[in-house]
Amino acid sequence: MLDGVPTDSAIGIQSAYPSPHRRFVPMREIFELRDGDGAGRIGELTVPRAGVTVETPALLPVINPHLRTIEPATLESEFGAEILITNGYILYGSDQFRDRALSEGLAELFDFTGAIMTDSGSFQLSEYGEISVTNAEILRFQRDIGSDIGTPIDIPTPPDTARERTKSELKTTQSRLEAAESVDTGEMLVNAPIQGSTHADLREEAAAHAYGTSLDVFPVGAVVPLMNGYRYAEMIEVVRAAKRGLGTDAPVHLFGAGHPMMFALAVAAGCDLFDSAAYALYARDGRYLTVAGTDHLEDLDYFPCSCPVCTEHTPTTLRECADDRREELLARHNLHVSYRELRTVKQAIREGNLFELVERRARGHPAMVDGYRTLLDDSAALERHDPVSKAAFFYLSADSARRPEVSRYHDRLSRLSVPGERVLLSAGGDNSRFDETWRLRPPFGPVPPALSDSYPLTAERPDRLDREAYEAAARGVSRLVEANPDVQFAVAHWRWPDAALDALPKRVDVLELSEE
Ligand SMILES: [Zn+2]
Repeated sequence: MLDGVPTDSAIGIQSAYPSPHRRFVPMREIFELRDGDGAGRIGELTVPRAGVTVETPALLPVINPHLRTIEPATLESEFGAEILITNGYILYGSDQFRDRALSEGLAELFDFTGAIMTDSGSFQLSEYGEISVTNAEILRFQRDIGSDIGTPIDIPTPPDTARERTKSELKTTQSRLEAAESVDTGEMLVNAPIQGSTHADLREEAAAHAYGTSLDVFPVGAVVPLMNGYRYAEMIEVVRAAKRGLGTDAPVHLFGAGHPMMFALAVAAGCDLFDSAAYALYARDGRYLTVAGTDHLEDLDYFPCSCPVCTEHTPTTLRECADDRREELLARHNLHVSYRELRTVKQAIREGNLFELVERRARGHPAMVDGYRTLLDDSAALERHDPVSKAAFFYLSADSARRPEVSRYHDRLSRLSVPGERVLLSAGGDNSRFDETWRLRPPFGPVPPALSDSYPLTAERPDRLDREAYEAAARGVSRLVEANPDVQFAVAHWRWPDAALDALPKRVDVLELSEE
C-alpha cells in the first residue's frame, strides 16, 4: 500500500468528495461505478422507466423520426445499442408522429426495448430564436410519450460568448432546471444540462447548481462547435470545469459528441455518455469515420476496417451503390467503428491502460495532442480517481512523464523519510561507501529497494528516453532531498541531459557513471 493513499478505497472513484459549492444532496442511486482509470470509469446507469441498466461509457445513436437511416430495432439487434436519443420537440411538432407517440409510446413507435432519451428543442431554440412550447409543456410531453430520460429547455450558449450574456443565459437555464424539479415527471429521469460557454468558472458554478437539484443526468452542453473546430484542449477544459462542480456519482453526457476519434480522450476526462448524429450526418456526406479522423469515401482505395460493411465491400463497389444504399452502408460502418471504439475504451479501463490508449489516439491529430496535454495539466484531478495499482505502465512519449502516476509518486517521495546519513541514488550498481543505495529510474526518480518491483515503478520504458523523463526524475530527486534535510545525497547518473542535471538541488553530489 502506498503511504498517504486512503486505504478505504483502493479505487478512489468509489467515494464522493465534497466541493465547497455544493449543497448537500443524497448519493444518486441510479448510477453505480464499477471500475476506473484516470478520471475514466465504467458505470451502470439504471433507467427505471425502461426497466433497464445501461453500461457506460455508452453511445446514444440519434434517431431522427422522419429520417431513420438505420432502424432502432436494427441498432439493438446488430449493434447492441442499449440506449438511443431522439428529439422530443420534433415529435411534438410532427403531424405524422405526435399522436402516435402519445398513444403508442416511444418504445413501440421505435420498436426498441432499451432506454430512450429525448431532447427538448433547445437546439431549435438556439438556431431559430424561438420555439412554440414552454418548459413545463415539453417536459410533460416527453413524459407522456414514454421518454425514459427527458430534458428541460436550456439555453445552449456557444463557445466564446461574452461573459455577461453567458451569465444571463445561465440564469435562465438554471431557472428552467429548478422549474423542472417541480414538474410531475413520474419515473422519467431528467437531464440537467450544464452550460457556461468557454468560461471555466461559470461552467463549474453551473455544474454545482445542476448537481444541487434533484435532476439525474448531466449533459455538458454546447460543445459541438469546439469539437467541429478541433478545439480539443478547450473541450477538455470545459469538461474538467463541469466535473469540478459535480460529484463522482453524477453521470456526465458530452452532448453532441459522436466522433470516435475523441471517445478515449473524453472518457479519460470523465465523460460517460455520448450521442452520435455523426454516424448518419457524415454518411450522408460520403464521409467515413475512423479512430484517427474522417476520410472521404472518394479518396479511399482500401478500407482500414474489418466490420461487415468493409469486408463485404471495397470503396469502389460502395461508390457504385445507389445513393440511399451507400448512405446506409456508410452509416453502418460509422456505427461499427464507434461501438468498437467504446468497447476498446472499456477494455482499456478494465486493464488499467486507458492513458496508453489516449496517448495512441492523440497521435492521430495534432489537436488531439493538445487535448491530451490539457488533460494531463491537472494530474491532481486525474489522480483522485486513479487506481493505485494497475497491470503495467508503458512509457510511450514525453507526455507519459506527466501522467498522474508520476506526480503521485513524487508526492510520495516528499513524504518518505530515508534511513542513514549518506544515500546514493544510482543509475548503476550499489556502493558500500553509502549507508543505502536507491535506484534512479526516470521518469520517477529515486526508488527505494523495497519498492523496486511495485507499480508504477516497474514501467516499461524505451532505451532512448526523452529529456522530459530525466527532468521528471530530477523533480523526484528534489522532492526526496527537500523532505530529508539532514541526509547527504549523491546522484550517480548515466548520460543525463544538462537540463535535468541543472534541475537537481545544489546540495546533491553529482557523478557521471562511465562505460566500465
Ligand atoms: Zn468498417
